[in-house]
Amino acid sequence: MNGNKKRLVILGAGISGVGAALLGNQQGWDVFVSDFGSINPEFKQQLTDHNIEFEEKGHTLEKILNADCLVKSPGIPEKTEIMKKIRAKGIEVCSEIEFAYRYKGNSKIVAITGSNGKSTTTKLIWHMYTTAGLDAALVGNIGHSFALQIFEKPCEWYVIEVSSFQLDDVHQFRPDIAIILNITPDHLDRYNYQFENYVASKFRITMNQQAGDLLILNQDDNSINNYIINHSIHAKIVFITMNSNQTPEEGGFIDKDQMNINLNSNHFETSIHDLTIKGKHNLYNSMAAGISGKAAGIRNEKIRESMYTFKGLDHRLEFIASIRGVEFINDSKATNVNSTWYALECQKKPVVLILGGVDKGNDYTEILDVVREKVKAIVCLGVDNAPIHKAFGEVVPTIVETQNAKDAVQASYALADAGDVVLLAPACASFDLFQNYEDRGRQFRDAVLNL
Ligand code: ADP
Repeated sequence: MNGNKKRLVILGAGISGVGAALLGNQQGWDVFVSDFGSINPEFKQQLTDHNIEFEEKGHTLEKILNADCLVKSPGIPEKTEIMKKIRAKGIEVCSEIEFAYRYKGNSKIVAITGSNGKSTTTKLIWHMYTTAGLDAALVGNIGHSFALQIFEKPCEWYVIEVSSFQLDDVHQFRPDIAIILNITPDHLDRYNYQFENYVASKFRITMNQQAGDLLILNQDDNSINNYIINHSIHAKIVFITMNSNQTPEEGGFIDKDQMNINLNSNHFETSIHDLTIKGKHNLYNSMAAGISGKAAGIRNEKIRESMYTFKGLDHRLEFIASIRGVEFINDSKATNVNSTWYALECQKKPVVLILGGVDKGNDYTEILDVVREKVKAIVCLGVDNAPIHKAFGEVVPTIVETQNAKDAVQASYALADAGDVVLLAPACASFDLFQNYEDRGRQFRDAVLNL
């Protein structure tokens, strides 16, 4: 320990924790990293290379409770013993986003949150900014640490995907442009099963914004509307909507297959048919991205160019193959009911739906109508499929059970006719049978390609 340096303790040595450790070390903090599990060897090497002290497979209280500031991995819940002790001691707890923010200098920030669509929108905005020649970095929940970026190569713009867990521990974080795409129930286990707490957490993205900052909100989202009626917001609010009867003066709306954006008396429009990412949900994402492009002063040609060249992300309505007239689509990232609704909503053909996994307290009534209308069979892919049978037993004539990707794909193929689509959009997390949603998506793809 170094007597005159302030002590920074990092709890959790994942991507963001290691990024915060390196930045903290560079900025003159006495840094200590503690992880309850084992630390990835590559990360250990990085810490060692910079003479940063760390421990794994347990927490040493004396080395943690003397922190001046503590950066907590977003994965660590408040109910853990260690967090209770840290809170009891009154130590300042920051998310990595908050810590990195304090070293951002004059750079500008676009921050994106929401229950669904964060990664897609974040990547699209970054693609737009870089297409326009801006010096922009893609960081946050999307897998690149904001702190590490500042440590390695500070940029003029940071496009940050922010989860509610990271927002829980922001204090000064003030994005120039903030986006809340939508708020639907998710992660309620971390919010005492109180939806209001989760909504409030999302709105922390704007709590430090001022009149010159921009907040882009979804006008069609009831939870968002209820919140802003009851709370004061300092930023300038602009809306996105699909409702052509209630078009906002400033913001984005869709009218007769045309996307329109108005900001600061400046207009942008494009045919929605030219966008590379499809589906209603992606219109919201594209409108939000377009507004943030206009706000950054990007010319319309470049906004269009980026929207026409954006490739989208794997595992999000990703077309895999068409085999004897049956189309296979991988939306493994549809880990909650709302994203499954959007995945179904944009299907034009009869659907064999692969559903199931770890249910985070799903209420399937939200998708009953669209399932009734479009789904001819459900293939369950999970350990406990009872909730699916219960919800859809009366609605879908055929429900079969599988417990691995190969069986699920084969069963779906057997149930599908030429002209149908097999859609993996599970509405659940994947941890019962897979490492994560990417693993589930890859195994699905491999099984399809092996048919
Ligand atoms: P996130 O990072 O918030 O999880 P992603 O872009 O990874 O968002 O998309 C997650 C899932 O939600 C995918 O199934 C995707 O097709 C769907 N989705 C994307 N954008 C939206 C949106 N605006 N509203 C609802 N669902 C969406």
